[in-house]
Amino acid sequence: MQTRSFGWTGAQVPVIGQGTWKLEGDPATEALAALQAGLDAGMTHVDTAELYGGGRVESLVARAIAGRRDQVFLVSKVMPNHASRTGTVKACEASLRRLGTDHLDCYLLHWPGEHPLEETIAAFEQLVRDGKIRSWGLSNFDVDELDEALAIAGPRRIACNQVLYHLRTRDIEDRVLPWCVEHEVALVGYSPFGSGDFPHPQSRGGKVLAEVARAHGVTVHQVALAFLFRDPHIFAIPKSAKVARTRENAAAAGLRLSREEIARIDEAFPVHRGRRLPTL
Ligand code: NAP
Repeated sequence: MQTRSFGWTGAQVPVIGQGTWKLEGDPATEALAALQAGLDAGMTHVDTAELYGGGRVESLVARAIAGRRDQVFLVSKVMPNHASRTGTVKACEASLRRLGTDHLDCYLLHWPGEHPLEETIAAFEQLVRDGKIRSWGLSNFDVDELDEALAIAGPRRIACNQVLYHLRTRDIEDRVLPWCVEHEVALVGYSPFGSGDFPHPQSRGGKVLAEVARAHGVTVHQVALAFLFRDPHIFAIPKSAKVARTRENAAAAGLRLSREEIARIDEAFPVHRGRRLPTL
């Protein structure tokens, strides 16, 4: 599995990791097997949140990583309504208990919320000092919100920004990605398959993906992933509760698209410019 530096932190993180949203709705045995197959295939960046299944997904992740915690780059998120100075610490401690670990590799604010960012960041910094998290980051932050966070935290404190990024929603390429590159903040793209709403095979873009996939003997989903992580600052975190699909997603890390193929996909799925950052 190809790895790259997780922003300024320097942690080596696989280009393709594993999402876990809605995993509580899948058969637990299958979901567990898929997560473990993903770890075996090098997809050791595991993204979860206290929100997912009201904590049930974190408990499932605990079972998947049991006995191999050291191999995993474990990320969880605090809900904005919990993200006060004390609430953030409490939420993190509860996540650690559910995950059966004593630390997270990165802890994120799930989206900008009502508590002053100063409080959330102060709590994150305390959690770092206490060894409960190795780093912290943000999610669903647009550039003005990133500016605000940077002004509070200072340089080289924000490890990542996790944002919506798939073929039909490439808005981050306009302003958010350049901001993250400038400030050495890792860009983690969520919902790389449009959260299950993948381009239809009969659509113009769908046909381009199929042609590129055929040329490489791979699937359209693998082509989509390879296109999304083509930028050296981007990480993707697809979710699958199926072993075969999880292995397929991991194998996409070895796929290299030609300049011409990238140009064709780029043209079929143009970037929207000037909008506020879309979220799910
Ligand atoms: P996604 O990864 O874009 O798509 C998941 C869907 O694609 C599932 O229906 C899955 O079905 C299917 N799938 C996965 N691999 C496939 C393959 N190789 N071929 C065909 N279908 C495939 O959706 P997502 O779960 O929204 O996003 C990924 C992760 O990002 C989440 O799980 C979560 O960890 C994170 N996220 C974060 C935020 C945030 O606000 N920070 C928001 C949304 C998501 P099966 O499971 O049945 O395979």
